Amino acid sequence: MPSKVYFGSAKQKKWDANETLPIKLDLVLERLEIRNRVKDESVCIKMHLGGHVGYSTVHPVFVRRVVQAVKDGGGNPFVCDTPGSVLSAHTRGYTQETVGCPIISVSGPEEKHFYTFKKEYKGLSEWKMAGVIHDATFLIDLAHAKGHPTCGFGGVFKNLALGGFVGETRSKLHDTMQYDRYWFAEKCPDDATRKKIMESCPMEALVEDKQNPKELHMHMELCNQCGVCLKVAPPRSLKIDPINFRSFQEANAIGVSMVLSTFAKDKQVFINIAEHMTAVCDCFGFTGMAVLPDLGVFGSNDIVAVEQAILDLIGKQKLIYENVPENMQLQKGAGHPFQELHGPYKNPYIVVEEGEKLGLGTRDYQLIDVMEEKAKQEKVGQYISAAHM
Ligand code: SF4
Repeated sequence: MPSKVYFGSAKQKKWDANETLPIKLDLVLERLEIRNRVKDESVCIKMHLGGHVGYSTVHPVFVRRVVQAVKDGGGNPFVCDTPGSVLSAHTRGYTQETVGCPIISVSGPEEKHFYTFKKEYKGLSEWKMAGVIHDATFLIDLAHAKGHPTCGFGGVFKNLALGGFVGETRSKLHDTMQYDRYWFAEKCPDDATRKKIMESCPMEALVEDKQNPKELHMHMELCNQCGVCLKVAPPRSLKIDPINFRSFQEANAIGVSMVLSTFAKDKQVFINIAEHMTAVCDCFGFTGMAVLPDLGVFGSNDIVAVEQAILDLIGKQKLIYENVPENMQLQKGAGHPFQELHGPYKNPYIVVEEGEKLGLGTRDYQLIDVMEEKAKQEKVGQYISAAHM
């Protein structure tokens, strides 16, 4: 049985506020019946509030509408994110006055409020989940859809996986990519050869290891898997292997499954806002040019379905090549637009495949255009009133 994904397109049929995304978000919230579901609930609206001079995170105009829907339904909403982003949120326009509810840190100002979950995965055994999310009774995962240098794409999964844990766990989630060995020093004859390998990388992804300068370290987020280094490296000394790249997304799916295990199934809502989609994520603390056309608002009770739907729609678009930062070397023909940007091994679908395997939802979805639905309902209404005249 497909999961329903409600969608409001960024496209406008006419110059009318009703044809724009904030109003279409209202329709999505109506279809998700938020107002009927949140009475007396402690509603955590998990966002990424960005950093420094970034301005492409979900705009307060959207946040306020979500908050209002929760208040209308008798719920007690709060917006939350990691401590650093919360501390500087007011400099980017997020305050209690603008969004309509308190903005708090997911794990307390010093990240001391967390719950430890145990699971072994590539060097990660203790997962410290943000206590404020854990203690809430209803979750609204409100994410900005955009590119991501580590996994290709960031949406509702990444918003929860990284933002749902304290800094120590976030760091270890990234380190899972280093777990499977990719550098074999014993196959490299000398330091000069190792240096040449490092210098060959056009993305400056290869550096000396901080702990052991004789070793080589790969910054996975910078690597676009172009293979240039492999032409310089002696046989079997270096591997560019999909396993390293997929580890991060597998870890993301596990983290999300832990967060969602603390909420009843009918108390989870996921919203992706696909506008001003940049090449890299909002953690960078700045906003580049949009590399894809705005697509709209996507909402569902199924995290897997909503992420699959947005990835499918993005997959049908062409990158806006002239807006891609000049330091990026596109991997044309790599597949999805985000693979073209970040490399074929950063397949953005891995996290939804893993999420489905973990039972978080289904990749089978029904996309419902909220404007088309509204037009149908209005037609039926007119027919009924005409029949009673
Ligand atoms: S594959 Fe390309 S980007 Fe990645 S480390 Fe090698 S040279 Fe650098």
